[in-house]
Amino acid sequence: MISSPTASLTSGRLIRLKSEPSPTQIEEFKQHVKETGQPETFTTITTSKAENLEEAKILWKFTLDRKKRPNWDEAPCPICSPVSPKYLSGFLVWFPKENCIRAIGKECGRTLDKNWHREVRAFKIREEDEARRQYILQKLHTVPQLISEFETELATAKRQHSVWRDLKDRCPAIVQHLRDNMGEDLRVSRRSRNKTLSSSNGTSNYYETRIGKAQGYAAVRRDFPNVREIKSSIEHLEAISHGSNSHEISVRLQVMSKKEQRAIEKVIKLSETKLDRVKQRRHDFLSFFSDANIETINRWATDQNTSMYFTMKLNKNRKCLEVSCQEFSLETIRLRTII
Ligand SMILES: [Zn+2]
Repeated sequence: MISSPTASLTSGRLIRLKSEPSPTQIEEFKQHVKETGQPETFTTITTSKAENLEEAKILWKFTLDRKKRPNWDEAPCPICSPVSPKYLSGFLVWFPKENCIRAIGKECGRTLDKNWHREVRAFKIREEDEARRQYILQKLHTVPQLISEFETELATAKRQHSVWRDLKDRCPAIVQHLRDNMGEDLRVSRRSRNKTLSSSNGTSNYYETRIGKAQGYAAVRRDFPNVREIKSSIEHLEAISHGSNSHEISVRLQVMSKKEQRAIEKVIKLSETKLDRVKQRRHDFLSFFSDANIETINRWATDQNTSMYFTMKLNKNRKCLEVSCQEFSLETIRLRTII
């Protein structure tokens, strides 16, 4: 017979269960703790003193909300403090020798059993394994979709790469000049009209004026790595793809080795980060060719004090970028369909 929680707390009660609690029953306990902050009042919890932890198995780790507890106190612990407040961080534990569950303080198991850390570690691994399985169930069926997104990005990246190569090949000095100066604000040095200026670096007849901030720094600065990165992502994703049928995937997951699960999780996580990065670079690249940016670069490059004079202009229908400077009269870079 199950005694009432109030009466049992002073005497301690042992409630035998038929078997280890099912995930649904553990869920009920979680809900109870969340609502009341009182693991010791759950209907099937045992509060009698635990004598040993032989074969005991951690089912859940929790932290109590003190504000939900009567008198804002801590929960009693059936290992070291069955009737007085003891802990806020605890474990729900299955005791197979007694067929019961107890909620114990997180630090208390080791006072009863010097090998308790092994079960704590095993529980952590079980939790990680479960989280990985859930992740795979949630994500693996989206891999074909992810591959298709990368393929769309690949087509765009190839066009962008080709445009940038064209610009680098035909106007190498200008690209180098941009590389050296972009990233920070675009500035020019002006000669002071009346007096010598002093600063922490000493005195100078020149001062710097800011023209503006240029966009598309990542594209200008480095070799555009999108094509290479996308191809490698597609390759990795194709190797772990199990199609888009969630049901088939959950069946396959039952027989999948841990090593394979780890590899799948790693590839998906990495690919998602890479896809974000690839998209950022695509936007960054496009921002270089925006009207406002070309205008800023022009103001900087045609300033009377510029260190290298050149002009950049998008032609009317934005199909070409026209670049001219003293060394060559005009280079026309076809933008294909990147804009
Ligand atoms: Zn304790």
